[in-house]
Amino acid sequence: MSQSQSQGKLYIVGIGPGSVEHLTKKAEQVLIESDYVIGNGTYIDQVTSVVKNAEIIRSGMGGEVERAKKAVELSRNHVVSIISGGDANVYGMAGLVLEVAEKEGNVELEVIPGVTAISAAASLLGAPIVNDFAVISLSDLLTPVEMIERRLRAASESDFVIALYNPKSRTRKQNFAMAIGIIRESRSDENTVGIVKNATRNGESVIATTLGKVMEYDDVIDMSTTVIIGNSESRLWNNRIITPRGYQRKYRY
Ligand code: SAH
Repeated sequence: MSQSQSQGKLYIVGIGPGSVEHLTKKAEQVLIESDYVIGNGTYIDQVTSVVKNAEIIRSGMGGEVERAKKAVELSRNHVVSIISGGDANVYGMAGLVLEVAEKEGNVELEVIPGVTAISAAASLLGAPIVNDFAVISLSDLLTPVEMIERRLRAASESDFVIALYNPKSRTRKQNFAMAIGIIRESRSDENTVGIVKNATRNGESVIATTLGKVMEYDDVIDMSTTVIIGNSESRLWNNRIITPRGYQRKYRY
């Protein structure tokens, strides 16, 4: 541990998509070393089997600002892990915690990377990304809907593979249909779509389909789902999606 004025340190830890087997060794190590582990209930449940000595602070969904402030405050004199599902940089706690730390000043911190939902979902689908991709969250809690629409349109027109995070919540069900509508303006009905729910945890399910049929699965899609829209070269194979990297343009196999 470095010799700063205080003995404290703040780790912002990505804990992976669900199963503890997908927690990195580094994340496990800092959780074991911590005096405090702070996170919302679902994420705390994900890591209780590896947290041995730390005092656990559970906070509710929506209490992110308070949680970040508390973590920064405690880290002045203690080793603290604030945890985020997946990777803390991908719609996770890293941004808010660094903003709070920037205000408070002189906080020793380190961000620990994790396996993000798109990596877990893509693995279950086989090889749907493998080329340039865009990641777009459909949550309009912190981003105006017009901005989300603009980004969807640009990514779709540019033939990016598109991963949709936060496709639906309990109170916000219409954004998914809106996104599919925008994407269909510039893509064919045969364009591939992968739907992955609860990757690496209980209730895991994987569906490979097309843009023309995706709304038949509307009821499946919820806040535990990541949707991956292939590009114009992606194809279906055995409930999987293959997006070619481009080898076929250069080699015969
Ligand atoms: N920081 C997280 C993402 C937080 S946003 C990460 O890096 O993965 C929450 C969204 O992530 C969910 O609405 C869903 O779209 C996606 N997600 C998180 N865990 C998932 C899982 N196990 N399976 C499928 N999608 C998941």
